[in-house]
Amino acid sequence: MKIRAQIAMVLNLDKCIGCHTCSVTCKNVWTSREGMEYAWFNNVETKPGIGYPKDWENQTRWKGGWVRRRDGSIAPRIGGKWRVLANIFANPDLPEIDDYYEPFTYDYEHLQNAPDMNATPTARPRSLVSGERMEKIQWGPNWEEILGGEFSKRSQDYNFEGVQKDIYGQFENTFMMYLPRLCEHCLNPTCVASCPSGAIYKREEDGIVLIDQDKCRGWRMCVSGCPYKKIYYNWSSGKSEKCIFCYPRIEAGQPTVCSETCVGRIRYLGVVLYDADRIAEAASKPDERDLYQAQLDVFLNPHDPAVIAEAERQGIPYAWLEAAKKSPIWKMAMEWKVAFPLHPEYRTLPMVWYVPPLSPITSAASAGKIGLDGEMPDVRSLRIPVRYLANLLTAGDEEPVAQALERMLAMRAYMRAKTVDGVIDEAIA
Ligand code: SF4
Ligand code: SF4
Repeated sequence: MKIRAQIAMVLNLDKCIGCHTCSVTCKNVWTSREGMEYAWFNNVETKPGIGYPKDWENQTRWKGGWVRRRDGSIAPRIGGKWRVLANIFANPDLPEIDDYYEPFTYDYEHLQNAPDMNATPTARPRSLVSGERMEKIQWGPNWEEILGGEFSKRSQDYNFEGVQKDIYGQFENTFMMYLPRLCEHCLNPTCVASCPSGAIYKREEDGIVLIDQDKCRGWRMCVSGCPYKKIYYNWSSGKSEKCIFCYPRIEAGQPTVCSETCVGRIRYLGVVLYDADRIAEAASKPDERDLYQAQLDVFLNPHDPAVIAEAERQGIPYAWLEAAKKSPIWKMAMEWKVAFPLHPEYRTLPMVWYVPPLSPITSAASAGKIGLDGEMPDVRSLRIPVRYLANLLTAGDEEPVAQALERMLAMRAYMRAKTVDGVIDEAIA
C-alpha cells in the first residue's frame, strides 16, 4: 500500500447561483495577462449546454481521457508513440480560439456621445466579428441560458453524452443548472501521460498537478489529452498553462481564491488519503459504471488507526493526517455519499467532486410532495432528470445519484422542521 495525501474540492451545485465571482477573481489573480485573454482556469457553465470550450464533453472529437485496451490496460485516447510523433507536427485535436468564446467589446461611442435623455446611456456589448464567422461562433459558456427558446432548437444539434434528445425541444421540460469547472487535479492525469517533454507533474505532497514552465515546449498534447479541456496555450509565452489550485495560498494555509470568494459558499476544501497502488486497477474497470465505486475504493479511511499508523510510517506529515481526519471531502464523498466525480468514465480519477443539485424543486413542491410531514417526493419527479445528473456524475448509474438526492431532501426537511418550528421533529429526524 502506497499512501498519498491529496487536496480535493467538493462543490455543492445546489447552492451555485452562477454569479461568476469565482471565475473573475481567479482571472484577476492568475490569468490577467497577455496570451491568456481567452483562458479561464475556473469557468461556470450553464448545463445542459455545450460548455467551454465548445463541446468539451465530446471525447470522440477531442480524443481526451484514457481508453481501455483489449488486454485490460488503459492508454491515453490520443494513442501510442507514433501518434504522438505525428501530432508533434500537426496536432489535429486542438480546440481553436473560436471554440473558446466570441470576442466582444462595448459600444463606448454610444456611451460617450449619446444625446440628452431621461435614462442613463449604456455601453451595450458588441461583437468583434461578423458574417460567416459570427454564425460559426455565436455561442458562449452560458449561451443556452441567454437564448432561452432558441436553446431548444440548437440543443438538438448536439449529443449530450447519451442524454435523450427528446428531453430538449419541449419547452415545458426545459431545465438548467450551473456547473463551475476547474482542473480536476486527477489521480490518474492524462495531461501528464500525454506530455512528450515530461513537463507536467503531480506533486507528491498534495497531488496538485502543475506544468514546469521551463520544460514545456508548447506541443499542446496536454490540451488534446485532458478530457476536461482544462489546459490552455499561452500564445504569448508559447507554453501551456493550467489551474495551479492556488498552491502558494494552500502552502500558506489559505483556501483557493475561488473558494474564498464564492458568493454561494458552495466550495469545500479538504485532504483525502488514497492508495496509489490501486489507481491502475481502479481506472481500468471494464464497465464504466463501476468507475465511481472504483474511485471510492481507492480512498482510505482517515479514522482507521491502522491507516494513520501506516501513513505516519510512510512519512505523511502529522498536519495532513489531522486535516484528513477533519476533511469535509471525506464526509460528503465517502461517508454520506452525496458528492460524485465529474465524468468518471474518462478514467482520470478526478478530484473535484460535485453534490448534485436538488433545485429547482418547484414541480415536486407544488404537487404537495415536499413538506414537513415526513413525506418525501420521488426524486425522479424532480425537474432536473436523475438520468441527466447520472450521465454527468456516475457514468449513467442512476441509483447512487437518486440516493444522494433523497438524503438531501431528508436533510432539507429535517433542517426546516428544526429551524422553522424551533424544535426538532423527531419523526422526521
Ligand atoms: Fe490534467 Fe487537470 Fe485535465 Fe486532469 S483535469 S487531465 S489533472 S489538466
Ligand atoms: Fe457559483 Fe460560487 Fe462561482 Fe458564484 S462564486 S458562480 S456561487 S461557484
